[in-house]
Amino acid sequence: VSGAPGGASYASVAVPVPVRRLFTYEVDPSLAATLQAGSRVRVPFGPRKVVGTVVEWPAAPPEPGVAVKPIDTVLTHAGPISPALLELTRFVADYYLCSWGEAIETALPPDAGPRPVRRLARRLPAADPDALSARAVARKRVLAALPADGTLRPLQSFAPTDRRVLRALAKQGWVEIVEQAEEAAPEGEPAQPARGPTPTPGQAAVLRELEPALAAREYKPFLLYGATGSGKTEVYLRASRRVLDLGRGVLWLVPEIGLTPLLASNVSARFPGTVALMHSGLSKRQRHDAWLRVRDGRHRLVVGTRSALFAPIEDLGLIVVDEEQDGSYKQADTPRYNARDLAVVRTRAERAVLLMGSATPSMESFQHARAGRYGLLRLGGRVRQRPLPEVRLVDMRREFGLSKQVKPVSDELASELRACVERGEQALVLRNRRGWAAAVFCPTCGSRVVCPNCSVTMTWHLSAARLRCHYCGNAEAFPECCPTCGTDSLKLLGEGTERIEDILREAVPGATIERMDRDTVRGRGAHEKLLRRFDRGEIDILVGTQMIAKGHDFPRVTLVGVLSADQALGLPDFRAGERVFQLLTQVAGRAGRGERPGTVLIQAFDTEHPLLHQAAVQDYEAFFEDEVRYRRALRYPPFSALVQLIVIDREPSQARLWAGALAAALQREGRGKLIVGGPGPAPLERLQGRYRQQILVRTAGRRRLIAAVERALRAVEGEVPRRALHVDVDPYSLL
Ligand SMILES: [Zn+2]
Ligand SMILES: [Zn+2]
Repeated sequence: VSGAPGGASYASVAVPVPVRRLFTYEVDPSLAATLQAGSRVRVPFGPRKVVGTVVEWPAAPPEPGVAVKPIDTVLTHAGPISPALLELTRFVADYYLCSWGEAIETALPPDAGPRPVRRLARRLPAADPDALSARAVARKRVLAALPADGTLRPLQSFAPTDRRVLRALAKQGWVEIVEQAEEAAPEGEPAQPARGPTPTPGQAAVLRELEPALAAREYKPFLLYGATGSGKTEVYLRASRRVLDLGRGVLWLVPEIGLTPLLASNVSARFPGTVALMHSGLSKRQRHDAWLRVRDGRHRLVVGTRSALFAPIEDLGLIVVDEEQDGSYKQADTPRYNARDLAVVRTRAERAVLLMGSATPSMESFQHARAGRYGLLRLGGRVRQRPLPEVRLVDMRREFGLSKQVKPVSDELASELRACVERGEQALVLRNRRGWAAAVFCPTCGSRVVCPNCSVTMTWHLSAARLRCHYCGNAEAFPECCPTCGTDSLKLLGEGTERIEDILREAVPGATIERMDRDTVRGRGAHEKLLRRFDRGEIDILVGTQMIAKGHDFPRVTLVGVLSADQALGLPDFRAGERVFQLLTQVAGRAGRGERPGTVLIQAFDTEHPLLHQAAVQDYEAFFEDEVRYRRALRYPPFSALVQLIVIDREPSQARLWAGALAAALQREGRGKLIVGGPGPAPLERLQGRYRQQILVRTAGRRRLIAAVERALRAVEGEVPRRALHVDVDPYSLL
């Protein structure tokens, strides 16, 4: 569609407000020719003006006789969104039950504002330093700093006072100041493409299976299942090469934390001049410019995180979703989409190949593969026949029996760490909780210090000397006495990464120990910097949260320690077990990726738990069989579709009232076909000072479920305000 068809006099505009409907505006004849589906427009909306997107051409105003306002302005900063992407955003709106306008916002590059201009100065032939009086020292000096041949020099390279002198010289007609629009430079890239290693027999076999699909221009989804270190990246690289050679584009999605500079430079080295990076670590300007370069076809391969799913690649031939099980593919705010699931939708629409990869696939994807809906590609063994690491479970009950004290780091792990550092090798220690102490506990009354805004315990951060809530960011000084009973015997309970770092300094004297968690890698680039130092061998032991578990390949790491491995198993979320298994397998896979074999020590109290044993031997399929039985019995995904509705208000009674009305509407609209759980308080009952009521709705048929939820939401429209509702289709977290 180009241009309003037949000079249409009305346009339907999707506006980013949480109302699932379109708004009709009048099209001025002078705009009709320039306007098309996907055009961005400014329109009057109530008392204000908003930016929306033209999506359709209605034949007439909604109701004859109703005054329709005209479109105000057509905006051009990014140009119109393509028909294919517009269709994808319509799917997002209908599936995730948000407005089309909200979905479109997610697919657009950030508005980076006017392009910054660079000012440059050049000396004009009229300039004559000899004509200046001897006292005009500054003018002489500044003029001398400009090349006589008229070469441009950036104004920024002059001191502020000298810039004033330059302007005076410009007035005099001796200097010219010009402005140039700045484009954020793409990453520096080598000119010669790097040659990859020869594929292993396993990689070659997988590529042979992929080949017919890559060449066929047909939709075909695959799950590439292979242990950590089995060489999935090389398969992605070679499949990408094939698709680029066919003249089609490639989209490569990675988890939030998985896009390391190492991966980016490896991909860029194989495809020089072809790669655009899209992730949240870039500035608005950089993201905006990358988007334009991709849309204009200058970059044919996009490597990016979640929102890169909407990259405007023309003629897409392949989407790679690395670590497809990763939670960062799910967006936490409206629209609460999962980029992995939308990759299925996009590849189907564009007749492309979908290649999802994981060592620990999500239950959903592995079940699809077993049912034959996805092609299952198995990549066996580690590259160059490296053996899997030796994994030992450390029984902390036994440790306690021997030493009569609860030690966060067992003697066994401490001595392995000392031996590892003595050999000149490196170790990772995982503790999935940051801060110094997990809680502040009162032994007199038994209570814990809880965030005043949220129903969660506050974590003590020693270096900041603050109690912090990890959910709302609230920070307080250490209380002088117990907020509940007033006695002054408060104790610290449970060790976070900050404390573990301290314990390790004592346990492994002389070792260089650093910590990686959200407290130590705050600024842009801090994460990469720490990883580079570790890669160069400047750090012996890296302690951290799950950040240390993902996607890094360090050949000198031969020891991995996991503390409190079984702690997260008790969380009230049906995915708790799956997450623990994934995390343990991932972090264990970091050991022994180089020439030397690796050892993994998993500390736990419940060492009989089957999941820990399955993770210890990296037996994903044994874990899957157990887990799938449990999910089938309780009718949880992948054996049902699930929608989570959270009703929020400052008043608990109000939240309960609205949640009750919504649950009743769901029962009614479900016509006996839905399992409606709740309403009841969400596991995190209070967040940021607001009460949360949770309703979980399940049924086997996804379409029927979403349609019923939509009908129920319509039914309570006048009763429950939309801002009090969070609708989460296929939720990732149930807390
Ligand atoms: Zn107390
Ligand atoms: Zn809080």
